[in-house]
Amino acid sequence: MRDKVRCLIIGSGPAGYTAAIYASRANLEPVLFEGLQPGGQLTTTTEVENFPGYPEGITGPELMEDLKKQAQRYGTEVYPGRATSVDFSVRPFKVTIDNEQVIEADTVIISTGATAKYLGLPDETKYAGQGVSACATCDGFFYRKKKVAVVGGGDTACEEATYLSGLADKVYLIVRKPYLRASQIMQERVMNNPKIEILFEHNAVGLYGEKGVEGVHLVKRMGETDEEKIDLAIDGFFLAIGHTPNTDIFKSFLELDEVGYIKIDNPTSKTNIEGVFAAGDVADPHYRQAITAAGMGCRAAMDAERYLSEKGL
Ligand code: NDP
Repeated sequence: MRDKVRCLIIGSGPAGYTAAIYASRANLEPVLFEGLQPGGQLTTTTEVENFPGYPEGITGPELMEDLKKQAQRYGTEVYPGRATSVDFSVRPFKVTIDNEQVIEADTVIISTGATAKYLGLPDETKYAGQGVSACATCDGFFYRKKKVAVVGGGDTACEEATYLSGLADKVYLIVRKPYLRASQIMQERVMNNPKIEILFEHNAVGLYGEKGVEGVHLVKRMGETDEEKIDLAIDGFFLAIGHTPNTDIFKSFLELDEVGYIKIDNPTSKTNIEGVFAAGDVADPHYRQAITAAGMGCRAAMDAERYLSEKGL
C-alpha cells in the first residue's frame, strides 16, 4: 500500500465507488478505504428498484459489488480499513487508517455516509442483539412467523415494514405523528398490506422481556389530556427513524450544518478546505438516494481532478 496518494476516497457506498470510477479513469490512481460497512447502507437493503439501468431491480449487495468491480477495473485500489483521524491542517493531508497507518493525500474525497439513529432509550442498549435492530434486511430472518414493530413514518420505515411483512406474522408501524411522511407509493404499499397495522400518534418509551424483547411500552397521544399507556407484545423492535451523518473525525476541520452534515459549496463538492471534497449522504440531508449519492461522487472526482491539475499536483 502506497503511503502517498493523489486521491484518497473514504467510504465505499455509491458515492465513494462512483468517485473511484471517475478518478481512476482520469488517471488519479485513487485509493479507497471501505470503512466499517463495506458497500455502505445499500448492502443492508434487499431489492433496489429505483437505480436507473436495472429494469428488473437489483439487490443492494449485487449493485455494490458491480460498482466495486467497475472501480477496480480502472485501477482503483480498494482496501478494508476505516479512517480513524485526519489532519487537514497540513499539505499533503494526513489520514490515519485503523489508528495505525498514516496516508498522505493531495486530495481527499469524503463519502462516509450516514448511520441509523436510535431513539436513545436505555432499553435499546439493554436488548441490543436480543430483539432490537436498525436493519430489517439483516435481522428480519429471525422473526419469521413472529410479531415485530417498526418505529418511524418515513420511506425507510415503510420499506422495512413491507420487507418484514414477508417474514413476520404481524408488523406494527409505530408513528409518532397522525400521518406518514413517506412517499405516496410507499404509503399505499403499507396501507394495503393486511399484515401491517399502523399505530398513529404512538411513541415507544421502553421495552420489556425476560430473555430478549417480549413487548414494547407505548404511549398514545403523549402529552395530551387523553394520553394512554399501552403494552404491546412483540418479539422484535426495529428502528427506522432516520440517520446521522458520519462526520465525527472531520468536525474540527470542516464546516458542518447543525445536524452534522458536511457543508459543500453547491453545485460543487467543495468543502471549506481546498482539496477536500464530500459526496453522498454525508453531505446530503435532502435526497439521500443511491443515485444522487453516485452523482455527487462523480462531481467530487471531477472537482478533485481539476484541483490537482490547477495545482500541478
Ligand atoms: P425520514 O427523516 O424521512 O423519516 C424519519 C421518520 O422517523 C419520520 O416519520 C419521523 O417522524 C420519525 N422519527 C424521527 N425521530 C423520531 C423519534 N425520536 N421518535 C419517533 N419517530 C421519529 O427518514 P428516512 O430514513 O425514512 O428517509 C430518509 C430519506 O431517504 C428520505 O428522503 C426518503 O425519501 C429517502 N428514502 C427513500 C427510499 C426509496 O425511495 N426507496 C427508501 C428509504 C429512504 P416525523 O415525521 O414526526 O418527524
